[in-house]
Amino acid sequence: HANDQVLEFRVMPYAEQLMMVVRDITRLKQLEQMRKDFVANVSHELRTPLTVVTGYLEMMDADNMPPPMMWERAHTTMIEQCKRMDSLVNQLLSLSRIEGARRHEKDRPVNVPAMLALIQTEALSVNQDKQHEVVFDVDPLLDILGSADELRSAFSNLVFNAIHYTKPHGKVVVSWQYNDKSACFSVKDNGDGIAPEHIHRLTERFYRVDKARSRKTGGSGLGLAITKHVLTRHDSSLEIQSTLGEGSCFSFSFTQDKVKIMTDGESHETV
Ligand code: ADP
Repeated sequence: HANDQVLEFRVMPYAEQLMMVVRDITRLKQLEQMRKDFVANVSHELRTPLTVVTGYLEMMDADNMPPPMMWERAHTTMIEQCKRMDSLVNQLLSLSRIEGARRHEKDRPVNVPAMLALIQTEALSVNQDKQHEVVFDVDPLLDILGSADELRSAFSNLVFNAIHYTKPHGKVVVSWQYNDKSACFSVKDNGDGIAPEHIHRLTERFYRVDKARSRKTGGSGLGLAITKHVLTRHDSSLEIQSTLGEGSCFSFSFTQDKVKIMTDGESHETV
């Protein structure tokens, strides 16, 4: 069919006659295709580092040891590739945990300023090679209700992406503020930006604008898919604004019922 609709036709007996049943199975087929793509993507992502590690190990058989000067490189590469597989498996597990079940645990106050302080410290080491100006503009009294572990991955994915996908000596501004009766988080960078045709696909699992570049930064293409699911579970959604050549802004906000504004002197829950 012209609009990719898939119909199933079945002829069945009905009151001593025959009846034709037509069923629209477009969605079923789409889901099946998504499942197949997912399995193919996971296999591909795991196979690439496995091939590298196997290659080095095969080179190292007793009769054919590579010269010692190559050992260091082999060792570093194998560790890198194993870490990549480990991070991929962890991301897959968190995606299936978040995506699968409804959230059972009750919302608890999350100390967002302390969480962002930790992310800021982690960002220092990621930013060493990039030398960006990274600014955190955080309301110290603004907490929200939710799941701390899940929210931490949503906040940090956006911050680390901005650092990774901006050319050296760029600027990244992270903001957590109370605006217009909601708590708003945004990460703005002056990186390369994203072309409009990619924007609506960024939260698909394994979707990357530039696969080679994302791999170099250790990316798996699952970060924004996880972020999207975490936000849905917190009644929020990801907004992406981007202009090619100028930069991007990723943001989300939480409605009043999720916001917890501390008074001066009141102590936050620990993260
Ligand atoms: P990855 O592990 O590849 O970073 P994500 O799901 O976090 O996966 O992001 C998906 C893709 O979105 C990235 O591969 C990259 O192409 C694009 N992207 C994400 N954040 C930015 C950004 N701040 N600037 C430009 N492109 C971005």
